[in-house]
Amino acid sequence: MKNYKHIFFDLDHTLWDLERNSAETITELLASYNVDEKVIASKPGFIKEYNKINDALWDQYRLGTIDRKTLRYERFRRVFLFFGIEDQQLAHDFGNAFVRDSPLKPHLIPGALEVLEHLSGHYTLHIITNGFAEAQEKKIKNAGIAHYFEHIINSEMAGFNKPDPRIFEYSLALAKAGKSESIMVGDHLEADILGAKRAGIDQIYYNPARRPHYEELTYEIIHLKELIDLLKKTKEKP
Ligand SMILES: [Mg+2]
Repeated sequence: MKNYKHIFFDLDHTLWDLERNSAETITELLASYNVDEKVIASKPGFIKEYNKINDALWDQYRLGTIDRKTLRYERFRRVFLFFGIEDQQLAHDFGNAFVRDSPLKPHLIPGALEVLEHLSGHYTLHIITNGFAEAQEKKIKNAGIAHYFEHIINSEMAGFNKPDPRIFEYSLALAKAGKSESIMVGDHLEADILGAKRAGIDQIYYNPARRPHYEELTYEIIHLKELIDLLKKTKEKP
């Protein structure tokens, strides 16, 4: 039986609905910038392509092959280029406006609020995020969830990105939490789950898309609300 005391959450895609918040922001920015009408007409395609490009660039950022400045503009430069627009200035302005506006969006993953409300009565909750400190703090504040967390750890303060075990070590030390009394919840198999596993921390893989994999993990869920019963059971087992 495990007696978990500390739950570490990832933020983007796990609690904060990055996809929905990004789509809303892009929709507003496409309307407010002087973007070619053909692009605006194919908005769902634009957002889909953006997500693909953004994910790939985040993988590179995680590996340390590009820096945050590059990530910020390059994702828009590439998606505009994909739609036939070669405009550095537009990509630059769009990138800045996106970073300014998207953290103000409040949408959470379904069930997040209910789960945080429940779990905060039984556990000490923390966040470990690879996102940029300033943006992540705004997201947490605007979504109204800051008060649920004792520590909000980002990769800038830790000096390492997930899945580097050192960001998990840093987080445990900060929270004064033992490995055996801690569990990590996240949507990214490599960064959150395998990272935590290698650091010796139990994991709950939030996998709503049911992505197939062959990893041996502690737990896996497809809806956040499963967390409540799952964690209750870990206390009951003999
Ligand atoms: Mg995530």
